[in-house]
Amino acid sequence: MPDIETPEAQPGLVTPGVNGTDQPRSGSAPTLSVLVPLYNEELVIRPMYERLTRVLSQSVDSYEVILVNDGSRDRTLEIAIELCRSDKKLKLINFSRNFGHQLAITAGMDSSSGQCVVVIDADLQDPPEVIPQMLEKWRAGNHVVYGVRAKRNGESWFKKVTAKIFYRVLRRMAAVPIPVDTGDFRLIDRRVIGELTKMRERARFVRGMISWIGFKQDQVVFERNERFAGETKYPLAKMLKFAVDGVLSFSQVPLKLASAFGFLSATISFLFMIYGLLQKSLHPESVVPGWASTFSAILFIGGVQLICVGILGEYVGRIYDEVKQRPLYVVNEFVNFSNSAGDRAPQKIA
Ligand code: UDP
Ligand code: MG
Repeated sequence: MPDIETPEAQPGLVTPGVNGTDQPRSGSAPTLSVLVPLYNEELVIRPMYERLTRVLSQSVDSYEVILVNDGSRDRTLEIAIELCRSDKKLKLINFSRNFGHQLAITAGMDSSSGQCVVVIDADLQDPPEVIPQMLEKWRAGNHVVYGVRAKRNGESWFKKVTAKIFYRVLRRMAAVPIPVDTGDFRLIDRRVIGELTKMRERARFVRGMISWIGFKQDQVVFERNERFAGETKYPLAKMLKFAVDGVLSFSQVPLKLASAFGFLSATISFLFMIYGLLQKSLHPESVVPGWASTFSAILFIGGVQLICVGILGEYVGRIYDEVKQRPLYVVNEFVNFSNSAGDRAPQKIA
């Protein structure tokens, strides 16, 4: 369970709003919107801002940077608001609590107005210097340009190995091909963003949803750097949930696996039955009561049943979450967004 924390409102600077009503957009549409999700990133937010804006001012004529504060409990919000005061290209969406990385990205997309959008981690693991290459491929007619991690520096072997396995398993199981070794660091054209904002599912695996949408996609290969400062905000439990969301949102293979398990155990039990009957009729004297085999068969079938019920439960739980139709996230405040005349019509969030 994520910690629930309500950051203090900053009166005067902000336009309150709640997702589900009207979504503020920036005034005139810039070429590029950069989305940066932030969760307890007080150590990296300033260096990230400086490096990012240096690259952007050299590579694109107009841009906006949308910071999404995902219920940070450190000084992230304070620093973000300070930066917004001095740079009006910088915008801030402040969540009412921690909603998670994928929903932070979603909120940024909902309120972005650039002709294309780049999603980038705050911790400088994804180098902003790759953005000009992505823009080049976008100008050449691609709708999605995703970053492929050629090398992951400074991450534990456990994370590297599990990530490698996960992306490959997912690729085999998913109904749409999801490129391996890619994260959310990517450029997305407005058309794709338009489709993505229509998809209001809760268990969000944004990179999979982008693959599902289709259009012309290309890649840029880059070396993933070490985190600039601070610790990963994806501890093992969160990473596992994310991986399960990815598999269950894009694949029904686990359900089929459940029936396969059932079928296999039924076949094995049937063969055992025949074996038992044959033994009894051919060598009645050698048949021992055989509690061990009974016992292990019960355990085996019980285990298989529990696994299948568990898999069903995972899907049913997700169906329950979806039918509640709650808003995906709640915004405490928007900073530097304007909703004056001439803005795009406020977007209705289903
Ligand atoms: N993040 C977020 N909400 C969360 C967890 C992470 O907004 O609940 C942000 C985090 O601040 C960072 C990005 O998502 O900008 C990726 O997180 P992190 O770098 O910790 O993940 P890792 O690179 O270790 O997989
Ligand atoms: Mg990181």
